[in-house]
Amino acid sequence: MISAAISQIKSELPQGVNLVAVSKFHPLSAIQEAYLAGQRMFGENRPQEFAQKAQAMSQWCLENHCEPVQWHFIGHLQTNKLKMVLPYAHLVQSVDSIHLLEAISSWAKSAEKEISVLLELHLGAEQTKHGLSEDEIKDILAHSDHYPNVRFCGLMGMATNTADESVVEADFTRIEALMGNVSAMFPQLTDFRELSIGMSEDYRIALRHGATIIRIGTKLFGPREY
Ligand SMILES: *Cc1c(COP(=O)(O)O)cnc(C)c1O
Repeated sequence: MISAAISQIKSELPQGVNLVAVSKFHPLSAIQEAYLAGQRMFGENRPQEFAQKAQAMSQWCLENHCEPVQWHFIGHLQTNKLKMVLPYAHLVQSVDSIHLLEAISSWAKSAEKEISVLLELHLGAEQTKHGLSEDEIKDILAHSDHYPNVRFCGLMGMATNTADESVVEADFTRIEALMGNVSAMFPQLTDFRELSIGMSEDYRIALRHGATIIRIGTKLFGPREY
């Protein structure tokens, strides 16, 4: 069932668009089932669950002599939880404040690592206070050399949670335009090319607005039991 859902969604993705399977609240067995169906990128939004699953899957991959999972962190990250997330993260998609960016930067410096991030644009009216404004994003990128251990890979956004497609369209139009603007403003940032938009209910709209990463949970794993 998970494997059928993965093939279904992958068949809809243009070349160069990646699927992140959002496994939050689902057991390791579901992740392993997806892995065996060829899925390699997984996303989690809570630091402790992220760390536990990353460690368990790394063990599992060692035992089975298979290639490791790419873990994407997609939730709000408090600076006192960095050490649970950064050692395992292939990409931190949800950098939603300058304070968090500074903390990631100094962690990366002392660990002598490079951390890849997406900047999260505050999109959507009601559901979240998290995210950067367009001006903050431009300002960060104008000073990207202040963060030598951070690799800026693109933007992430969550559309307004509504059944009104025109509202979702407007949100994705805005982030797509910002992506175009900042790419033109900062051509020296050659890694800045990912646009992570689209979830189970709106990924088809996201694909029409330049998504390069979609983040799908429910449509792969079924409803979450909170
Ligand atoms: C949970 C979550 C998703 C996946 O949502 P679904 O509607 O289950 O596909 C995607 N992105 C973020 C940031 C999430 O927290």
